[in-house]
Amino acid sequence: MARYTGPVCRLCRREGTKLFLKGTRCFSDKCAIEKRNFAPGQHGKDRKAKIVGYGLQLREKQKAKRIYFTLEGQFRAYYEKATNAPGVTGELLLQQLERRLDNVAFRMGLATSRRQARQVVRHGHVEVNGRKVNIPSFQVKVGDEIRVRENSKKLTLLEISREFASHQVPPQWITMDAANLVGKIIALPKREDINLPVNEQLIVELYSK
Ligand code: SF4
Repeated sequence: MARYTGPVCRLCRREGTKLFLKGTRCFSDKCAIEKRNFAPGQHGKDRKAKIVGYGLQLREKQKAKRIYFTLEGQFRAYYEKATNAPGVTGELLLQQLERRLDNVAFRMGLATSRRQARQVVRHGHVEVNGRKVNIPSFQVKVGDEIRVRENSKKLTLLEISREFASHQVPPQWITMDAANLVGKIIALPKREDINLPVNEQLIVELYSK
């Protein structure tokens, strides 16, 4: 599965806001937004045009895509699925993004960023209902039990996760046993559970043109 492999702080600078893509660094004064809060590139400092209309809608879509590390094709597929399901399209779109296994691993505190959580999943350290799943886009459902595999618990990365997870408050739709690195999905995420600076309505307007 293709993925973005370029510098991630650049993505925050393009959006002009913190997208929290680098874990603990995002909370330090090393954060690129703290030091250089202007668009990347040679003329980034000079361009301060006000963004309106289509530009605003495009920026919201790019922001959501970048937060969840998805590419255009997959993001569009989420939108198509959301339009065909009963309910509020924008909310259903965000819900599918939240239900990705890499995001769930991040929400459980198994990694300090979604990018790191993706790696944890990709390297086969996570199982869902007792079976290894190494697909970051896997959609979890109510009742699923997500746990770190027994052999993986000894890895340094997961040892750090255990420490990290013990200080995290999981969202209301996940119950977490931080000591054993096990989480259970008890509900589907609602809009109010998704505390991200994204206006999903603008994304829907963009795609429905
Ligand atoms: Fe974005 Fe984090 Fe980089 Fe800051 S440190 S620019 S929040 S990815």
